Amino acid sequence: MNSEGLKRRLEALQEQMAGIDHAIEQLEAQIVAQERAEKKGAEVLEIEPARGGGSYVLQRVLCGKPSCRCARTGGELHGPYWYHYWKMDRKTKSKYVGKIGLRRARETAKVEAIALKISGQGGRGRIIALLDH
Ligand SMILES: [Zn+2]
Repeated sequence: MNSEGLKRRLEALQEQMAGIDHAIEQLEAQIVAQERAEKKGAEVLEIEPARGGGSYVLQRVLCGKPSCRCARTGGELHGPYWYHYWKMDRKTKSKYVGKIGLRRARETAKVEAIALKISGQGGRGRIIALLDH
């Protein structure tokens, strides 16, 4: 095999590695989101990786008011609402997205990712994910 062939093999392997890194990041983000929800007594209905980074979680939540119906054992929770969870500077961030559909949520996150990129706060992975759109 000539050097060009070797370089192509190297590139193919690097692409595979990037794919695995991405899958690991997504799974880590899903675990973080699931753990957070469970800790807060929320019920997770759906988790989907967010292309801009982190994950979208559709969940039923407790509002935190002790007198509310949701605070009772087996009481009806609020929602479901979408939340966006992502990691930044090793911290988990979350943002309430609302009742809006996932397509809107994706667009919102994309806009935020662009804003972060412009302001220079976006991580490398985030910018690469954005360029992937
Ligand atoms: Zn409540």
